[in-house]
Amino acid sequence: MFLPDNIRTLMDRLEKAGYRAYAVGGSVRDSLMGQSADDYDITTTALPCEIKEVFSDYRTIDYGEKHGTITVISGGSPVEITTHRLDGSYSDSRHPDKVVFTDSVLADLARRDFTVNAVAYSQSEGIVDPYNGCADIQHKIIRCVGDPTLRFSEDALRIMRALRFASVLGFTIEKQTEDAIFALKGNLHKVSAERLQKEMMKLLRGKNAGKVLLAYGEVIFELFPSLKAEYRHAQIGKKHAYDIWEHTCYTVDAVDPTDDYLRLVMLFHDVGKPAVETFRENGDSDFSGHAEAGAKITKDELTHMKFPTRTIEQTAFLVSIHDRPIPADKITLKRYLGEMGEENFLRFLQMRKADRGALAEPYRDISEQLSLVQSLFEQVRNAKECYSLRELAVTGTDLEKAFSVSGQQVGALLQKALSAVIEGACENQQENIIQYLQSERK
Ligand code: ATP
Ligand code: MG
Repeated sequence: MFLPDNIRTLMDRLEKAGYRAYAVGGSVRDSLMGQSADDYDITTTALPCEIKEVFSDYRTIDYGEKHGTITVISGGSPVEITTHRLDGSYSDSRHPDKVVFTDSVLADLARRDFTVNAVAYSQSEGIVDPYNGCADIQHKIIRCVGDPTLRFSEDALRIMRALRFASVLGFTIEKQTEDAIFALKGNLHKVSAERLQKEMMKLLRGKNAGKVLLAYGEVIFELFPSLKAEYRHAQIGKKHAYDIWEHTCYTVDAVDPTDDYLRLVMLFHDVGKPAVETFRENGDSDFSGHAEAGAKITKDELTHMKFPTRTIEQTAFLVSIHDRPIPADKITLKRYLGEMGEENFLRFLQMRKADRGALAEPYRDISEQLSLVQSLFEQVRNAKECYSLRELAVTGTDLEKAFSVSGQQVGALLQKALSAVIEGACENQQENIIQYLQSERK
């Protein structure tokens, strides 16, 4: 099994000192899948004070000591070494409330959530796999260690962890585990918003996020009740191929998985639709105003789940602009850029593509519009054309002096100047702008 040299060295040292040491959890799972892991966890028979003694010449951090964890800095990165311990209830997802140490690795593996996370590896004993985790890794199955009903009752966060692993690893959730997830989803209310929110984001970053959202919508609606109105909500009209929730799930998969704002905005982009729906004369759904309505709901939902303020603001803003038309000329493009900034403008293009990509077949392809706007965007960027106050050749101070104005009047003049420059009514040069504003004031 692949383990980095520094991890082998740490494990060797524990064994030479007379303790047993195992790599465990996500790192073993990922190694068995042929992937390198981000962080390696070690579990050992050594007690925390003994771990510190063995690594007395290393830098160690002991804030997890009462839960049995000593963090050893090795090769510049932190490695958590934890004494084998028995099950307890978890309130922060990594550390049980009550800790009982044990010298049995089997007892330690029994407290772990899923079989794929309950495989240990030691250099002297090899793989320790009491729950057939290796087979489940091979068959790509998420299955609880022990009785799923009991395990989800102990800690409901495990429900979200199951969905998260299914999304990130591309695994299928085994039937009994799945039944218990649906039966106990109501317990998610007992879990803190912060813990749920972190798992939700990991789920959204996964390669199978859309599939998991589609299959486990009912669980997601426990976190975000407003999304429930999308479920099986038909969209009438030849443009549409899916109900709102199905459409939403497909769009999540279509945007950059490494951009949290984009994944989150696709989840919420149509949340305003059910509330604003009216019907056209021909019977088609009319969702006018859903972007603004959705932005408000998004803000409420993300606030309730204690997302960071910046995430809430950004996501709500992106929801509010998600269905604007793609600019087909430079003036409109520069107005968009001025309002959104470059980064959000590029997000907007991804949102449009994802949104359209999940309509009925004839309405999906917007590659021509996208390549036109892309080339206009490159022209603006390469020529450093002015689209915001940052590039404008006059500052507020210049205008204060030239027009003896202050406060809001300065802001209004700056906006006027910017519009004129964007529209080509005057050049982006100080003299021209001031002349233009003077002539407009007459
Ligand atoms: P990754 O680090 O790739 O996100 P991981 O499997 O290492 O995945 P962690 O959250 O780092 O997940 O937890 C490390 C290990 O601790 C898990 O593999 C699992 O064995 C155990 N574990 C973590 N949280 C729980 C929990 N709530 N209930 C039971 N076991 C848990
Ligand atoms: Mg981990």
